[in-house]
Amino acid sequence: MTQCLFCRIIKKEIPGRVVYEDDAIVAFEDINPQAPVHILVVPRKHIDSLMNLTKEDKELMGSLFLVANGLAKTHNLTPSGFRTVINTGSGGGQTVYHLHVHLLGGRQMTWPPG
Ligand code: AMP
Ligand code: ZN
Repeated sequence: MTQCLFCRIIKKEIPGRVVYEDDAIVAFEDINPQAPVHILVVPRKHIDSLMNLTKEDKELMGSLFLVANGLAKTHNLTPSGFRTVINTGSGGGQTVYHLHVHLLGGRQMTWPPG
């Protein structure tokens, strides 16, 4: 049994509030939302972080952002706008080492992020 939290959510070994899934990607609500909409878009394939991306993952990364685009639409985040974030490594604020895109929206975002 894998120790990776997001692999376990993907395999439904632990509960997640899944809002989208296909053969390559699962999206679920963040347990500690930082905005009215805060969804994590996650590849089924375990990739530790953006640092570990390979050419093999080229199409998968495109699919991740297309899913984020679709979820932004279904969650009414357009046309006001939304934010997508990938935290990478400890200096980037990453806490779960399974690559994921944060989709945040429903409030005004500020810059720079913390
Ligand atoms: P990051 O800090 O970029 O690695 O993002 C990890 C995210 O996973 C954080 O926003 C956490 O709130 C979220 N998270 C941690 N545990 C869970 C869980 N069991 N279900 C959903 N989201 C989680
Ligand atoms: Zn994993």
